[in-house]
Amino acid sequence: PAASDTQNVKIKDIPNDNENIELGIQFKNTGEINVPPLLIDQILGQEDAVEIVKKAASQRRHVMMIGTPGTGKSLLAKAMAELLPKEELEDILVYPNAEDNNNPRIRRVPAGKGREIVAAHRAEAQKKSQSKTMIMLALMVGIMIYAVITNQILIGLFVCILFMTLARQFIGRDDALIPKLLVSNYNKQHAPYVDATAAHAGALLGDVRHDPFQSGGLETPAHDRVEAGDIHKSHKGVLFLDEINILGIESQQSLLTALQEKEYAITGQSERSSGALVKTEPVPCDFIMVAAGNVDALEKMHPALRSRIKGYGYEVYMRDSMPDTPENRDKYIRFVAQEVMRDGRIPQFDEDAVKEIIREAKRRSGKKGHLTLKLRDLGGLVRVAGDLAGADGAQYTTASHVLKAKKISRSIEQQLADRYLENKKDYESFLRGGGEIGRVNGLAVIGGDSGIVLPILSEVTPSLSGSEGNIIATGQLKTIAREAVKNVSAVIKKVTGKNIEAIDIHIQFVGTYEGVEGDSASISIATAVMSAYENIPVNQSVAMTGSLSVRGDVLPVGGVTYKIEAAAQSGIKKVIIPKSNELDVMIEDAYKDVIEIVTVSTITEVLEYALVDSPKKDAFLKKLAEALKPEHAE
Ligand code: ADP
Repeated sequence: PAASDTQNVKIKDIPNDNENIELGIQFKNTGEINVPPLLIDQILGQEDAVEIVKKAASQRRHVMMIGTPGTGKSLLAKAMAELLPKEELEDILVYPNAEDNNNPRIRRVPAGKGREIVAAHRAEAQKKSQSKTMIMLALMVGIMIYAVITNQILIGLFVCILFMTLARQFIGRDDALIPKLLVSNYNKQHAPYVDATAAHAGALLGDVRHDPFQSGGLETPAHDRVEAGDIHKSHKGVLFLDEINILGIESQQSLLTALQEKEYAITGQSERSSGALVKTEPVPCDFIMVAAGNVDALEKMHPALRSRIKGYGYEVYMRDSMPDTPENRDKYIRFVAQEVMRDGRIPQFDEDAVKEIIREAKRRSGKKGHLTLKLRDLGGLVRVAGDLAGADGAQYTTASHVLKAKKISRSIEQQLADRYLENKKDYESFLRGGGEIGRVNGLAVIGGDSGIVLPILSEVTPSLSGSEGNIIATGQLKTIAREAVKNVSAVIKKVTGKNIEAIDIHIQFVGTYEGVEGDSASISIATAVMSAYENIPVNQSVAMTGSLSVRGDVLPVGGVTYKIEAAAQSGIKKVIIPKSNELDVMIEDAYKDVIEIVTVSTITEVLEYALVDSPKKDAFLKKLAEALKPEHAE
């Protein structure tokens, strides 16, 4: 029989180093692990990016980082700020301009000096206003004495109140001359790091606040309303801009000017406010820009800004995963230690808990022999596990906390898949046993990391148009179906001698689901079509995933682990996966006894497992195997 050479393996037999995660470093808990003091030494898996950041910091160059969120772009930018010399840091002050009130003056002084200067001015103003107050008081006392003597107390009181109002204005005037500290680097341990992601123009470029009292002695002086922008706050430091493409084109233009001039005057950003009248002298903004985004961010970026970075800086592409080697595994020990330290409240992890995190890093990489570098999410898992341990009052975070955390911290997509599954169970829209013609339990992935069972129905009818057959399907399914049907139609023709052109093939997902990534549905579609065409029922306790080639070979697909887990959760007994995906299976222990995994390399093998046994099936498979024999064997 055709399937004699296929392997029918229980998951336990699949070579899978789930069981033992070997580590090079001996430790009892992560408290023993040294966390390097500098952020740049804490980054794992991004060796190229680290090298570039070091180089860029010493040469003061801009950097562009492209890659998946949560792989360390902002961490690298922060690390870069630590590498910049803090000796160069400056404070920036804004002073009133006696000649032109609307053109406040800008002064730069060494870091920390700004605070002293403002304090000195304030003391001066206070002294002035104190002596003024004394004079006022003396005057008022005089007036009151005179009023009492001349028996005109009411008039005396009235004059005093008038005096007090005037006095307050006088004192206010003294305040109006105190400079404002626009950017302060007092006591800074390292150069500033400013995250300006999604900042509006005012926050990015600086702004002048609107003054509701524009006259009458109550107004706030112009220089006091000036606010520094992120480009100024990051002077001599690092300005980080993630999702650079969502920055408006005008802001990108202004950013380019700031990069070129290294100074940028602050003016009111809202056109009709009184702030728009004010424009300061140029304010220093000698920052290093670290721009980040995903690949399509490059397209939406202002070409001049992009070429500025290209011409005066470096570009790096971030990695999503790294090879699963003993050395790389050890880096995760330090990663967990770092995350625990950063959180500051959660208990240290014991060795088994760290191994569980590494196991999850393997799973999440979705690739044979790799560890994920999407470390923001993995850090989230560390924190949830730690919180659980904390709530337990445990001394250390253990493997069982990590396992529990994995259950809780499911992504929105995963929760959506759960919900979807629940609904499906309610409506019994997928059968979990018996045979059915033209109906196959396909498996798909949604949101990158969640599997779902996706039943596919096929029906075959004589072509309506008589001569030309049609594939009737909707949406995305149509494209995949076309591909799959094209690949099986040649096979069907060989097997049956009948011309596929004379039939219409209807295909539908049961309970259409938006956002399904369907490239891996093609063996399911092929199976459904053949079952419908040959009138042989499909075993409904079986689910499958795999891609189909023209020659009837089953090709590898993504997300097998998630798909198998979804199948197991929904009560499927057996899942068919491509042989070439065998090593990608990293399902959790809980599922190992409930589901049988079979690996296949041809469509004949798929049908061997999927179709319900009958003489008709045997005859069909024999013909199929014959038809699929390599050409030279015929
Ligand atoms: P991105 O900017 O690429 O979206 P972040 O730098 O903000 O990602 O990463 C978020 C968090 O995830 C970091 O603060 C750190 O805790 C962890 N992290 C991400 N990538 C790395 C890495 N390569 N090495 C160590 N920790 C990382």
